Amino acid sequence: MADLKTDVRYIKGIGEQRAKALAKLDIRTLRDLISWFPRRYEDRTKTCRIADLVPGETACVCAMVAAPPAVSHIRKGLDLVKVRAVDETGVLDVTFFNQSWLKNSLRTGESYVFCGKAEGNLLRRRMANPIAEPEGRREATGRIVPVYPLTVGVSQLVLSRSIRQGLDACADILPDALPDAVRREHQLCHIGFAYENIHFPSGGQALELARRRLAFEELFFFTLGLRRLRQRRETAEVKPFRPVDMGEFYGALPFTLTGAQRRCVEEALTDMASGRPMNRLCQGDVGSGKTMVAAACAFFCVKNGCQAALMAPTEILARQHYEGLAPLLEPLGIRCALLTGSHTAKEKRNLAAALAAGETDFIVGTHALITGGLEYRRLGLVVTDEQHRFGVGQRAALAGKGNHPHTLVMSATPIPRTLALILYGDLDVSVIDELPPGRRPVQTSFVDGSYHPRIYKFLRRLVGEGRQAYIVCPQVSESEEGGDGRKAVTEYAAKLREEVFPDLQVAYVHGKMKPREKDAVMAAFAARETDILVSTTVIEVGVDVPNAAVMVVENAERFGLSQLHQLRGRVGRGPWQSYCVLVSDNQNEETRRRLKIMTETSDGFKIAEEDLRLRGPGDFFGQRQHGLPGLRVADIGCDAQLLKEAQAAADALLARDPGLTGCPEAAERVKELFTGAAVTFS
Ligand code: ADP
Ligand code: MG
Repeated sequence: MADLKTDVRYIKGIGEQRAKALAKLDIRTLRDLISWFPRRYEDRTKTCRIADLVPGETACVCAMVAAPPAVSHIRKGLDLVKVRAVDETGVLDVTFFNQSWLKNSLRTGESYVFCGKAEGNLLRRRMANPIAEPEGRREATGRIVPVYPLTVGVSQLVLSRSIRQGLDACADILPDALPDAVRREHQLCHIGFAYENIHFPSGGQALELARRRLAFEELFFFTLGLRRLRQRRETAEVKPFRPVDMGEFYGALPFTLTGAQRRCVEEALTDMASGRPMNRLCQGDVGSGKTMVAAACAFFCVKNGCQAALMAPTEILARQHYEGLAPLLEPLGIRCALLTGSHTAKEKRNLAAALAAGETDFIVGTHALITGGLEYRRLGLVVTDEQHRFGVGQRAALAGKGNHPHTLVMSATPIPRTLALILYGDLDVSVIDELPPGRRPVQTSFVDGSYHPRIYKFLRRLVGEGRQAYIVCPQVSESEEGGDGRKAVTEYAAKLREEVFPDLQVAYVHGKMKPREKDAVMAAFAARETDILVSTTVIEVGVDVPNAAVMVVENAERFGLSQLHQLRGRVGRGPWQSYCVLVSDNQNEETRRRLKIMTETSDGFKIAEEDLRLRGPGDFFGQRQHGLPGLRVADIGCDAQLLKEAQAAADALLARDPGLTGCPEAAERVKELFTGAAVTFS
């Protein structure tokens, strides 16, 4: 029957009702359904004896119902079924809430498997609301059970039954996009086996085989897509930029570029003069001076008669770039403009018209620069700042804008090599491995909460010397998990104002504020109108306030190291000695070791590697999307070996069959994966 594009509601056993529920998870087609992979698994293959149950741990026991279940009506809306179950080692008291039908289905003298969290003590063990199934008819136990990501109104049971139906519906028609030769060469299992066992593993080994196959496949197609992007660029021809007297630009700078900056500029200029579109990543630690590299490239581009665009992840950062660069570039005859969301419709129209007429040479803004329907007269260069917030798809969309504009990507987050290989697999890389002279490393210390009085005294002293301070708290969140000491920014700021610094200017900023409010607070801080800024991580991205010389991070254990490093980069931008104080009461040894790394090094790469090693890649980007299309099974930190294998396989295939004419399914898959990116094989 059906192909994978079939709407789930036509699948036997699913129907309208369930299809509606599944739609909440964006599961619409058969393909969506069977690709909804479990987040983790619970091994319910083993049963233990009642005496071996450990309070607090989840386990399965097989036990016999010893007496008829007792039902009691506690109050309106709360019924309780109590059952006593026994085995040769002890007694287990089982209770169920609001499942009174169990009264009739649990029969005295018969054995059932109860699976749940054990409670009680060594003498009396209890389980509340376990899964209970007859020993002879096990469905939810007796195997490795998938645990799916859910949403309101869609339960594990609904999902796993729907997926069962889905797999049954397509068992015979599952198309395998992975070329068979590749599959055999790398000892990967068949597609049918893989899908069956990723959802319903027949055992641990089968699950591993399934996972390996699906992860390989993802990395393989992803690599093919990246290679294709690169190849398209290498075969595209653009008019080479001619040499320009860069002395005019360098002479206008208030400082001399560092050797590393110069090298990056030269590498980029060489690219742009090559006759092929540049696609380069400029990677440099916070404060290494990437903006000037971008400015040099923009200068070069404009002097070649083309327009340049600089795209920042936030409006405030865009404005800061504009305010920093326009005074430098305007005197050199470069007409600059800033596009933000706060323009009136008329201003926007005028901006767009000037851009289309070629009356603007250099435009700064957010990603509205590529998505905002703007037309450029001769777009020659697009620079994106803080790239990992954009992602591969956007990069590709951008490359499709105009006639192959040169692209320069600037990343502040030092990314571990394995990850960089994936994220930036289609880019050439320049590294700024040198800081501007005169920088003093930020002095970082790690203390517990008892140091607060001393910290406040220290802040007061620095503010007295004319400096400013950041205090960073973990994200304000609606679903605060219990009162575990997360300090909400607003409350903290109020407390500081009232109790600690009544005579100082304390402001706060967090992600739930409107962009305009946020901007206003940041602008006031940059203008030195406030002394202390209490904030969430919204300040993490690139805003430059050189006068800020100290940062206190509360509940520091809640941040990733790379994130702390990024945050810390907000201080130490001026000529003063700067400080970072990490505060944590967490006693976990691992956590303390992690935070201590921050006090020992200011090398972003080292920190990133440690971070990846200690926390795994899922956490590496925190809440942010990694922006990689199609990686659902592959784990970008742990599957480094598999990645190498998949890349080798992709390269070998492309060497044999550059157009993928022999495997149209594979070409089709890559195209789907990079939708919007216009990746095609021909
Ligand atoms: P990044 O974007 O890499 O974090 P920025 O481009 O914002 O860093 O530069 C950080 C600060 O260093 C800015 O205030 C900038 O003016 C200054 N700066 C950049 N290059 C130099 C240099 N070669 N010498 C001195 N100061 C520099
Ligand atoms: Mg920057």
